[in-house]
Amino acid sequence: MAPRVIPLVDQRRDAPLPVLGDADALGDGVLQDRRRRPLTDLRISVTDRCNFRCSYCMPKEVFDKNHAYLPHSALLSFEEITRLARVFVAQGVRKIRLTGGEPLLRKNIEHLIEQLSALRTPDGSPLDLTLTTNGSLLARKARALKAAGLQRVTVSLDALDDAIFRRMNDMDFPVADVLAGIDAAHEAGLGPIKVNMVVKRGTNEQEILPMARHFRQRHGGSVVLRFIEYMDVGATNGWRMDEVMPSAEVVARIATDFPLRPLVASAPGETAQRWAYADGRGEIGVISSVTRAFCSDCSRLRLSTEGRVYLCLFATQGHDLRQLLRGGADDEALARTIRGIWTQRDDRYSELRAGRQADRAADGSAPRRVEMSYIGG
Ligand code: SAM
Ligand code: SF4
Ligand code: SF4
Repeated sequence: MAPRVIPLVDQRRDAPLPVLGDADALGDGVLQDRRRRPLTDLRISVTDRCNFRCSYCMPKEVFDKNHAYLPHSALLSFEEITRLARVFVAQGVRKIRLTGGEPLLRKNIEHLIEQLSALRTPDGSPLDLTLTTNGSLLARKARALKAAGLQRVTVSLDALDDAIFRRMNDMDFPVADVLAGIDAAHEAGLGPIKVNMVVKRGTNEQEILPMARHFRQRHGGSVVLRFIEYMDVGATNGWRMDEVMPSAEVVARIATDFPLRPLVASAPGETAQRWAYADGRGEIGVISSVTRAFCSDCSRLRLSTEGRVYLCLFATQGHDLRQLLRGGADDEALARTIRGIWTQRDDRYSELRAGRQADRAADGSAPRRVEMSYIGG
């Protein structure tokens, strides 16, 4: 077997921060990148730690006891995150998703949610504030999250079968606790709830139909199950194309038992293609990151746990905003930098994936991309 790539927190050189003249930076127009995509969606990673070891994300043999996680002093504080979020919102961000690692492991995460939920867009509207979690701590925390101002949650769940689920999280964590977390989130009013299932051929494809059957009957159709193609994120998961199950196959498999009809996208930049059950009992989504790129309207920017921004899930370099924050930059300087970073953005990794073999090193190893657990999904 080829040697594993040694994991990085992120020791790559940062991309230089853009230097803009006053005239370039703070115009009134909508902020757009070089492909005319607006910046509307911010994903904030609040921790690089996780209590699961999903092999497609944080494989145990890499993220073991010798792995160097970020020290607490490196993490953005809640005040720093909120200050940056406020500047992002002034630049057009409407939706904030907290992620990680496992975001519910960050101590007092409700305090951050309280601060973020108080932010308003320039026209005075509240943000769309949500969180992606593995669900392990949700039963315990759902009510406090709702009380703090969280609107909804996305829960990752790859199997209903307990043995398969325990194997996939690789921490022997029981599926019943995640299912209890989903129910608690529903009861707390954190809906509509999305449940994300990464489908890996040869690992959990047999769970597609049981998952569809279970969630279409859940809470009166207010839980939406989405199937995600296994992606080549990071450099440690040993991704192989033959383990990707194309969404078209997932849809065909569900349609044999439950006829489906396509639905239109609910919002521009929507990553999922939606399908309704023909009998009117709910819907599913498929996220075809590998077989059908959706870069052309990707409006997402990712802020890492230690304050670097990444313009794409597959980026190899980030832009360090923490040094600006801690160096005393005022909000205008932060805004100017953010505008500079976004206006220079040209990323569209998935669209270019077909020719991507060029990225690979001579020994076939993956490029030193940032890990998903570091910048969040
Ligand atoms: N720990 C939380 C969770 O699992 O929901 C939040 C962080 S996790 C990195 C965010 C999402 O990324 C999860 O839904 C996870 O299934 C997905 N993900 C991680 N690695 C992936 C991969 N290689 N391909 C597709 N999705 C992946
Ligand atoms: Fe943890 Fe989420 Fe990654 Fe699984 S997908 S290892 S739960 S961060
Ligand atoms: Fe957005 Fe990059 Fe994913 Fe394309 S590959 S949709 S640009 S994050």
